[in-house]
Amino acid sequence: MSTLKDHIAKASERYSGTFKNGGLKSPPSRHFIFVTCMDARIDTHAAFGIGPGEAHVIRNAGGSAADALRSIVISQQLLGTREVAIIKHTKCGMDGLPNEMVHATVLKNLGIEAIGELKTRNMIDFLPVGGGITHGVKEDVKLLKTSSLVPRDIEITGWIYDVDSGATTRVC
Ligand SMILES: [Zn+2]
Repeated sequence: MSTLKDHIAKASERYSGTFKNGGLKSPPSRHFIFVTCMDARIDTHAAFGIGPGEAHVIRNAGGSAADALRSIVISQQLLGTREVAIIKHTKCGMDGLPNEMVHATVLKNLGIEAIGELKTRNMIDFLPVGGGITHGVKEDVKLLKTSSLVPRDIEITGWIYDVDSGATTRVC
């Protein structure tokens, strides 16, 4: 069975063999931030039309703005990005996921010490999407628009990516 380390070694050989993107600058040339879910079905660069060096893509479970905030501050304050798109998606596993269920699974699989670490790392809230995906998008846009960590003149929009059609539709 192929392991991840074998997979990476092979992919690297293939990719670097024809690599032509050396010398790109670190600040994204389009000044865009995409915040989206880690869901394996989303090919962010193809779906959202992003090329190498053009944008920051911040991914986490559920495409949470609160979870992404640390990276958003770095992106905007140190690397000059100017616009943010929050893109959640249909059929997201974080939609309505109860925190209690995650806690019970962590306790069963990893033990009581792991629950203690969730508390010390301030990770008790796994930031599930509440009230449906559309509501979740609006709430996250509102979070960024009212955050003192995001400048008032930054444009922030909210979207939903459909994992069955590949379409991304504006919510707000
Ligand atoms: Zn998701």
